[in-house]
Amino acid sequence: MRKPLIAGNWKMYGSAEKVRSFIKDFSVPEEAIASREILICPPFTSLATWREHSAAKPYLQLGAQDVYWEKDGAFTGEISPVMLKDAGCAYCVVGHSERRQYFGETDVSVNRKMHALLEAGVKPIVCVGETLKEREAGKTEEVLRRQINCSVFALDDAAYLKEIVIAYEPVWAIGTGKTATSEQANEACGFIRLLLRDRLGAPADDSIRILYGGSVNPKNIDELMALPEVDGVLVGGASLKAADFSRIAAYEV
Ligand code: PEP
Repeated sequence: MRKPLIAGNWKMYGSAEKVRSFIKDFSVPEEAIASREILICPPFTSLATWREHSAAKPYLQLGAQDVYWEKDGAFTGEISPVMLKDAGCAYCVVGHSERRQYFGETDVSVNRKMHALLEAGVKPIVCVGETLKEREAGKTEEVLRRQINCSVFALDDAAYLKEIVIAYEPVWAIGTGKTATSEQANEACGFIRLLLRDRLGAPADDSIRILYGGSVNPKNIDELMALPEVDGVLVGGASLKAADFSRIAAYEV
């Protein structure tokens, strides 16, 4: 049974005050806490403040938005998987389309980061998804196949299979207010599950969670979470408001 994961990506937003007020104002019913995982990925500079203030709501898990694959060394400006673990991160997003688009992230670097995170005991959330141009050219499946096959390359330790999470985030739906239709989201997540089965074997696709991301909000969350192939969501803009993210985390199906 795959436990749903409701994850928030704060991107380059946030401050110590923002962390304090978000934790204070966030609230979900007890039943929700028991039946799903809830995660926030603030900027690196907010990780310590988060850890300090989240003791009252320990069900709120902490994650990061990126990582470098080396353990330590002369890599100015970078943060290692071991450092994320030390900072209290349970998860780390890798291969977000903004990293691919603006910072030269490739499928190969995503794969290296994923392996390094697993080794350090931090669960990777690997983002994949097609651009509008690729979708309109009928290349969605081709793009997903390339991204998935390369991202999970050499993942042959069975123990790691239940640790990885895939986020299907069509680039055209991120931060645009355009959500994929239920049919598009379910179809793409189902296709990813087939790819994982082909690549990693049947037990893997039973344990790997596949999230949908792209303009998720309090109004569309219930419909998205009712989709059989969707095991959770990765939320950008709407995760910054405690009231909205509380409603998203308290989804009902
Ligand atoms: C994201 O940043 O991963 C994302 C899905 O953003 P938004 O929810 O704002 O579209």
